[in-house]
Amino acid sequence: MGGDGNGAPASVESTNVAPTTGASSPSLDVDYMSYVSHELSAPLTAMRWSTALLQSAKMTKPLDPDQLKLADEIMVGVNRMSLLVDDIHESSWLERGKFADQPSPISLADVIANVQAKQQAAIDGKKLVFTVTIDPTLPPLTVRPSTITLVVQNLLSNAVKYTPAGGSVTVQVRIPTEAEAAKLGKPAAGCVLLSLADTGMGIPADQQQLVFSRFFRASNVREQDLEGTGLGLYIVSLGVKSMGGAIWFQSVEQQGSTFYVLLPLKNAADEVH
Ligand code: ADP
Repeated sequence: MGGDGNGAPASVESTNVAPTTGASSPSLDVDYMSYVSHELSAPLTAMRWSTALLQSAKMTKPLDPDQLKLADEIMVGVNRMSLLVDDIHESSWLERGKFADQPSPISLADVIANVQAKQQAAIDGKKLVFTVTIDPTLPPLTVRPSTITLVVQNLLSNAVKYTPAGGSVTVQVRIPTEAEAAKLGKPAAGCVLLSLADTGMGIPADQQQLVFSRFFRASNVREQDLEGTGLGLYIVSLGVKSMGGAIWFQSVEQQGSTFYVLLPLKNAADEVH
């Protein structure tokens, strides 16, 4: 897959993700957004519970079909808002370098299995061929569990969401080649490479340079009205950067995408603290 339409892979290092500007990524005050997203969480939860109650048969007077339709619409709206609020909250925490946990040795296999379990209904619903291959000889990876989970969650849910029924998603974890590890200026033995390949809709070549920008959504996705916030890959790039890693991808429209995450087994920056 050639990312720039000329056969050369698009390579976007997380370290190059600068504060973004322009129409697709308005400038935001991080503290303000963090405050707003925090304050919106509680009322949104209350709205979700109340709407779920309205939808359930537990009401003394259950709703009639027209009322139920309205309650369903409210629930769709609440879920969309929650998604956005959660993403704004996560990105503002990462932007400020705030973390809920400390780096510890983790099993990438477990992280992938947990994230896969959450996506299983969508994977089965689309009859996707889902394959995970993990090199059993890999040494342990020391990272913040919450951060690596966010990274895997966003990349995997994108692969599933943007791949049509009957397609395939392939997750691989291996020791990188020396050339790949050189992106971090490290020997291959000190790194791990996670890749997620899909046979989905791909990203139009002329928009690939925007992929890690805040609120970016490609034109082919917008045309299909697929749900999303445009913050997932921005969060992923911040997460990868915080782990001292690099991220890049290759994508061809209507053929598929492969995202690569290269991580040091231990982030030198974590050892300073
Ligand atoms: P979203 O909430 O829209 O999925 P992301 O930040 O995760 O936001 O991704 C930004 C955009 O990048 C998506 O809207 C989509 O256009 C494109 N994209 C991301 N991952 C993929 C993928 N695996 N296949 C095709 N397009 C993708």
